[in-house]
Amino acid sequence: MGATVIDGIGQLVTCDPRLGDGSALGLLHDAALVVDGDRVAWAGPRSEAPAADALVNAGGRAVIPGFVDSHSHLVFAGDRSADFAARMEGRPYSTGGIRTTVAATRAATDEQLAAQVARHVEEMLRQGTTTVETKSGYGLTAHDEARALAVARQLTPETTFLGAHVVAPEYADDPGGYVDLVTGPMLEACAPYARWVDVFCERGAFDADQARAVLSAGVAAGLGARVHANQLGPGPGVQVACELGAAAADHCTFLSDEDVAALRDAGVVATLLPGVEFSTRSPYPDARRLLAAGVTVALASDCNPGSCYSSSMPLCIALAVREMHMSPAEAMWSATAGGAAALRRDDVGRLAPGALADLVLLEAPSYVHLAYRPGVPLAAGVWQRGRPVV
Ligand SMILES: [Zn+2]
Repeated sequence: MGATVIDGIGQLVTCDPRLGDGSALGLLHDAALVVDGDRVAWAGPRSEAPAADALVNAGGRAVIPGFVDSHSHLVFAGDRSADFAARMEGRPYSTGGIRTTVAATRAATDEQLAAQVARHVEEMLRQGTTTVETKSGYGLTAHDEARALAVARQLTPETTFLGAHVVAPEYADDPGGYVDLVTGPMLEACAPYARWVDVFCERGAFDADQARAVLSAGVAAGLGARVHANQLGPGPGVQVACELGAAAADHCTFLSDEDVAALRDAGVVATLLPGVEFSTRSPYPDARRLLAAGVTVALASDCNPGSCYSSSMPLCIALAVREMHMSPAEAMWSATAGGAAALRRDDVGRLAPGALADLVLLEAPSYVHLAYRPGVPLAAGVWQRGRPVV
């Protein structure tokens, strides 16, 4: 198969400041993009586009990099809509929620779990998400965590071992014993299927010493570190993430000035998950404070059955702009190049020569419509690794 030129692009978001207008989004107008194999071969003004074997006319619409969703929990079974309804009706939120999902996930067959993950990944693709990170964390035994990751690995290379999501019910009276399991036999079973290790460092989940133990063991087994940090209250999660050189600290809702400085100085990406605050009626993280300090900010869905069952990156962009006062340009960058930084990838989240040809044709003249038209499906076409998939 030869090269394809996508011509007639009204606005091209490259997320490469060396291209286009020199901004972080690297915007080009009246642009063209050449795809060769699974890669971007060329991007620039349409008047200078090289010849190619096939032509797609974008008709003046905008083209953006595929979204990079760097935080999701897709391997689970069961339905938690009753929890959500109870919460929205003001009835007390059942803290047994995660346990309900753990019981259903353990009872599901590998085939059922695989079908569920495939359905979610397909749903994400239709909305323009071409790179997905997803975690284990609803098995909580060595066997169930490993099979969750094996299932996820069929659909994405960005798999994260989250045995340290909550203490397994069998270890309710022996959290130390559970950390020994997570850092020992469970890690050994999971590491072959995982790229990352994660820990829920929060009051009621794992404390600083336990989080250090989980992350250090994962790093020693060859995994990269990422952390669920400072979501429900102030705590040590961000400091532990920075101390251990994690790629990202996710949530970052309750931060001290020292936490913000540590993120900046350690170059740890702060991943904000505004779908969670939206779905739980909680205060949003302070994105402006992080951006003002020079911290790299990513946006991700946190798609999971408990606190946010939305896989929509356009919704995250709309919430980031409307509720967290990010500019449309900042939100666009954070949902693509920011997610790539959170996964330490330079081949996704941008549309420059050499990058993977993961891109979205929007039914809109500008990326701003992602925030301007919340709830409207704008992905008119999606290409993944150079192949049209939607
Ligand atoms: Zn999460």
